Amino acid sequence: MGYTLEELKNIGASLRKDFPIINDSASYLDNSATSQKPRQVIEAVKNYYEESNANPLRGLYDLSVKATDAYEDAREAVRKFINAGKISEIVFTRNATESLNLIANSYGKAFLKEGDEILVSIMEHHSNMLPWQEVAKATGAKIKYLDIDENGAITVDVLAKAITKNTKLVAITQVSNVLGIKNDIKALAKLAHENGAVFVCDGAQSVPHMKVDVKDLDVDFLAFSGHKMLAPMGIGVLYGKEELLEKMPPFLYGGEMIEYVTLEGATYAELPHKFEAGTVNASGAVGLHAAIDYMNKVGFDYIEERENQLTAYAFEKMKAIPHVNIVGSQDPADHHGILTFTIDGCHPHDVSEIMNSLDVMVRAGHHCAQPLTKYLGLNSTTRASLGFYNNEADIDRFIDALSQIRGKLG
Ligand code: PLP
Repeated sequence: MGYTLEELKNIGASLRKDFPIINDSASYLDNSATSQKPRQVIEAVKNYYEESNANPLRGLYDLSVKATDAYEDAREAVRKFINAGKISEIVFTRNATESLNLIANSYGKAFLKEGDEILVSIMEHHSNMLPWQEVAKATGAKIKYLDIDENGAITVDVLAKAITKNTKLVAITQVSNVLGIKNDIKALAKLAHENGAVFVCDGAQSVPHMKVDVKDLDVDFLAFSGHKMLAPMGIGVLYGKEELLEKMPPFLYGGEMIEYVTLEGATYAELPHKFEAGTVNASGAVGLHAAIDYMNKVGFDYIEERENQLTAYAFEKMKAIPHVNIVGSQDPADHHGILTFTIDGCHPHDVSEIMNSLDVMVRAGHHCAQPLTKYLGLNSTTRASLGFYNNEADIDRFIDALSQIRGKLG
């Protein structure tokens, strides 16, 4: 606890002013779906188009070189942000979903075969489940699912029981987008490696909220989306260890990813360009660079502490409302900004609509984690998810709305 409550609030109040879409008459509590963008990111994208735009990596004229430099500077910023060893290990994609599909289609289809096992956790977002189902269909490898423990986590014990000498790949999220729980990725990856398996980490809900260091975690692949961490939509990242990316075939084919083409075939560009076919999203990368600069300036000490404090504030108030059931761990420290809940006798879509009428934005449904929702014995839930630019008034409005729902539904 490095900050006093007053400091958390005061810093929060000043950061909040950086977000033009955030105002004090509505509560945006759907940050796990996408974050809002600070002025600094919006301006960086605007400046790119006003001053640097050309097709990067193609032209030899100055403006194209400027665009290339902006794009490659962003790659270096991402490398540093997640502490990767080399820029060749940072591939720009559209989003976490595309990053995970890239690993599955390239690594999965090239290196997995009949008799191999893929271990995927039951809590995965569809984006880290369906690509592996397709790899299994295409290769004859078998998928086995890892259950959650009573707190909702995937533990080392669970993985140890399921892993065998046939396990070739383990795919697990660092933070669940439904339960908010954080898995011990470092320990899980270590166990996977001891058994000769490659470890894929879905960082879509962790990278925006906590320091993620790929060297420390020792994951083989990490996928995340820019739009959940203050950057524009349409830019995502795949980190992969160089020795793995090097031996993987391309995912998409076409311009930009080649070295030499003849009518008979082609040789492919060096990493990371081998995986970046077609015109790249330079403005998105520039926006991601600005987002990383912004987050570095705010600092993860503040981001984590403020989000945990707001989560605990909301959690305690939710617990005090009759008929509201928080899904997952009953310890607020396990939730990392994500509070998924049900209300007895109320459909989550009705809950979300009533909340909307009371200026509270939350998400209802299965949150792209249908197998987990079913495993929990539910059809759908409502999710409030926080960012560091939320404040106590946002939570109070949400709690006030929550306490009115059953009355409004009669
Ligand atoms: N993984 C997790 C845990 C997520 O929460 C999400 C999005 O909500 C994704 C993957 C997919 O992210 P995107 O839609 O940006 O590709």
